[in-house]
Amino acid sequence: MSNANPLLQDHSLPPFSQIKPEHIEPAVDQLLSQARAELEQQLENLGQATWDNLVEPIEQRDDVINKAWSPIGHLNGVQNSDELREAYNSCVVKLSQYSTEMGQHQGLYQAYQNLAVSAEFNQLSQAQQQSIHHALRNFRLAGVALADDKKARFAEIKQALSKLSTQFSNNVMDASQAWYKRLDEVNELQGLPESQIAGAKAQAEAKGVDGYVITLDIPSYLGVMQYAENRKLREELYRAYVSRASQNSFRLDEDQGPWDNSGLIEQTLALRHELALLLGFNHYAELSLATKMAEAPEQVVSFLQQLAEKSRTGAKQDVHELATFAAAKGLVGELQAWDLAFYSEQLKTEKYAVSQEQLRPYFPAAKVCQGLFAVAKKLFGIDIEQQEADVWHPDVGFYQVSRNGQAVAYFYLDLYAREHKRGGAWMDECRVRRSTEQGLQLPVAYLTCNFTPPLGDKPSLLNHNEVTTLFHEFGHGLHHMLTQVEVAAVSGINGVAWDAVELPSQFLENWCWHKDVIPMISEHFETAEALPDDLLDKLLAAKNFQSAMQMLRQVEFALFDFSLHLNYQVDEPLPVQAVLDQVRQEVAVMVPPSFNKFQNSFSHIFAGGYAAGYYSYKWAEVLSADAFSRFEQEGIFAPAAGQDFLHSILEQGGSREAMALFTEFRGREPNTDALLRHSGIGGGN
Ligand code: ZN
Repeated sequence: MSNANPLLQDHSLPPFSQIKPEHIEPAVDQLLSQARAELEQQLENLGQATWDNLVEPIEQRDDVINKAWSPIGHLNGVQNSDELREAYNSCVVKLSQYSTEMGQHQGLYQAYQNLAVSAEFNQLSQAQQQSIHHALRNFRLAGVALADDKKARFAEIKQALSKLSTQFSNNVMDASQAWYKRLDEVNELQGLPESQIAGAKAQAEAKGVDGYVITLDIPSYLGVMQYAENRKLREELYRAYVSRASQNSFRLDEDQGPWDNSGLIEQTLALRHELALLLGFNHYAELSLATKMAEAPEQVVSFLQQLAEKSRTGAKQDVHELATFAAAKGLVGELQAWDLAFYSEQLKTEKYAVSQEQLRPYFPAAKVCQGLFAVAKKLFGIDIEQQEADVWHPDVGFYQVSRNGQAVAYFYLDLYAREHKRGGAWMDECRVRRSTEQGLQLPVAYLTCNFTPPLGDKPSLLNHNEVTTLFHEFGHGLHHMLTQVEVAAVSGINGVAWDAVELPSQFLENWCWHKDVIPMISEHFETAEALPDDLLDKLLAAKNFQSAMQMLRQVEFALFDFSLHLNYQVDEPLPVQAVLDQVRQEVAVMVPPSFNKFQNSFSHIFAGGYAAGYYSYKWAEVLSADAFSRFEQEGIFAPAAGQDFLHSILEQGGSREAMALFTEFRGREPNTDALLRHSGIGGGN
């Protein structure tokens, strides 16, 4: 059996057409048990730990597992089936068990420690040393260095936190789904676009009732908040939405709900704090920063406060403009929380008169890709050429990336939405660059989008948001593909601090807003004309609509998240609402009504990976805007700036600290000026 299993054979690229769901579990089982056995044998015979006898075999085994697993995970996302999903799900459990086991392996930890203090360590390359530092850090964060009684408590807390997080997100889902509103008459939905009304009708049919149904699902909720002229309806919907998973959650009868997350939040914060103390940190905020570019909690707080301060005047102007506009449109009384989206949408349309749909004819997918590759060539001197390969769908392209005539990487490009493909856009790793006994293994990436496919003779046409998405994912791809690092753990995007990992992606987005680049990436599919300047101008103006208000909102969320984890007091925890009120007092220009319990559905931090890390969104934006500002000074395709970005950032992966790399590229530490200026905030020019 194993001989015929394509996942157990050594291929330079995944044999997509041969992979069948029945190959998956046997392959994963065999690889994992082999890896476990080899590790025990390796440690038994180890003697003095060296790079060659300790790390190299581990990297080799991990690579074999990754190379078998990567196409499975990828197919699960882009070519799903019931059989595949089932095999995938059971293997995900096995792989995560394996990785927990490795992270808590006492003997392995000991061996890494020995290597770190050995005479050889100082002879190792920067990348090798960094990978050992990271490994030791990850062992400690996994609790391996704890005394036995503490280790048991650590495991208990981890398990409890994982349950709390699942419960939190289930509560949000249940509370959201319990609520819906049925309307008899279509005129109650006045103002909504046709497609939204059709959606409400379909919802009613799905529920087997007459009329129209609106729900708390994002498309339905936003549709009403942005377009419904019926103010009472907007208010009712807003109240339901911001009360989800709180004691005021809507409930049909006393037996259900209210799915109140308040208690779970308190428990989560207490356990996170205890976990941080166990690992020797002062609080959870410090634990969170252990894997990030930001060095100290004070740095994060003052960073956020600075953004808030600089955005406040602009945000007040945004609110004032909106209130004036709403009054002129006949709004009676004060502008309320449930009026914001409604009047903002109208104001935006009147001010800029440009819609994303209008832009599509100018951006055929093929032209955009061609332009994107040309941009990458001008910036980084790389050539991209399509090649034949075994792919999972006829629409998928395979490309070779070369520098000075030499292949350095490959990528798959899967642009179009289709059935059984997960929504959204992402870059993922297929192969990582590393040195092996057989020579250098080149990196391979998957770039996945969900654009509208070509229809008949009509090519696939992108709106500008989608063009931006493509540049963004390609930026991640370049980070993975242009690395020069040969140690897998810090090669490409591996080992990069996660508040810095969005730097190359957001950085590259800047090029699709530039007037010198527009002719490279746009060509009307009928007239062959590039996007006219006046449309680009409108697009640029619309980009910064209410940007100060948005900035303050994000800062409010980030400061709330960070303060909760930073200022936690064991004896007398401050009520969560009090922390939120205090943050709002400090930064918000429009304080939401007191029944707003957004924290009870803040899944990013209570059911996702963003605890004491929500600031990362803004942090990475600062880095990318500041990096781009060098090109504004030196020229959009300035060769020196392009080469420096390539050498100091893209080639380095996680082999050095993100701050050191940024400083090397920019000649100084990052600051917020460029982001504020690009957002039209802070009296910049
Ligand atoms: Zn990204």
